[in-house]
Amino acid sequence: MEHAGSIAEVRARLAPVRREGRGIGLAATMGALHAGHGALIDRARREPDFLVVSIFVNGPQFERRDDYEAYAIDLAQDLEFCRAHGADLVFAPSLQEMYPREQAASVEVAGLSEGLCGRFRPGHFRAVTTVVAKLFHIVQPDRAYFGEKDWQQLEVIRRMAVDLNWPVEIVPVPTVREPDGLALSSRNRRLKAEERAVAPLLYRALQASRDCISAGCVSAAEAKEAGMRLLAPEPRIRVEYFEVVDAETLAPVERISGPVRVAAAAWVGGTRLIDNVEAKAP
Ligand code: AMP
Repeated sequence: MEHAGSIAEVRARLAPVRREGRGIGLAATMGALHAGHGALIDRARREPDFLVVSIFVNGPQFERRDDYEAYAIDLAQDLEFCRAHGADLVFAPSLQEMYPREQAASVEVAGLSEGLCGRFRPGHFRAVTTVVAKLFHIVQPDRAYFGEKDWQQLEVIRRMAVDLNWPVEIVPVPTVREPDGLALSSRNRRLKAEERAVAPLLYRALQASRDCISAGCVSAAEAKEAGMRLLAPEPRIRVEYFEVVDAETLAPVERISGPVRVAAAAWVGGTRLIDNVEAKAP
């Protein structure tokens, strides 16, 4: 496995790969790699592509300085993780390499970026789409892998690729969970023991909503209530949003007829967790 810190190195390494006609895969991460990232890399490995994993903690997408500063990554450990999962090249640039000066250009996906997390994290998705656009230009992948755990991010990036005619296939990867249901996240390690103990309730609440929908409930308010009933009595969990949305447009749904996504964000102590599930009317 190779390791590059500069954009020039990545371009030089990928030019002959492309000349040989081999496909290129990209899994973009912020490091602190866990089995959720592992699933992205394993999924990518099923293709014959040359696989690039990027590791870059994208400062501009953090609207809270404390969250950014708490985002500790161990590059040596992450490189070993990528090697073990069979990546071909890790691109781990510095902040200076990615943003050598103030950025005047950015990419914004209107509408899709505004609800759910976008409502509570202004500017977050613009920073995400901008850095993913930069990575797409640097790596020029044929396939790029994104986790369903960040459903809104996945849909925003899918839309960006379609609207801007990017010749890249966006491949979704199912959420990897702990045995008790908690979605793996780099932020889980910040949970104190008593917070970790209640954190899986978020997924259980989403499941309760989903079960309500698959049992024939067509009212989104009722489905939401089925989930919120589990969360409301737990004082350690503060729900930021809990919504039933159209799986593709992310628009809030009132009467459920087609496939929807139930998505939630909640604070458990000082840690913000997000999760979502697919739900279908019977
Ligand atoms: P991050 O390092 O948190 O920016 O995540 C990098 C990529 O890994 C994103 O596409 C995430 O959606 C994906 N990812 C993170 N956690 C999980 C998980 N538990 N299951 C599946 N994919 C995940």
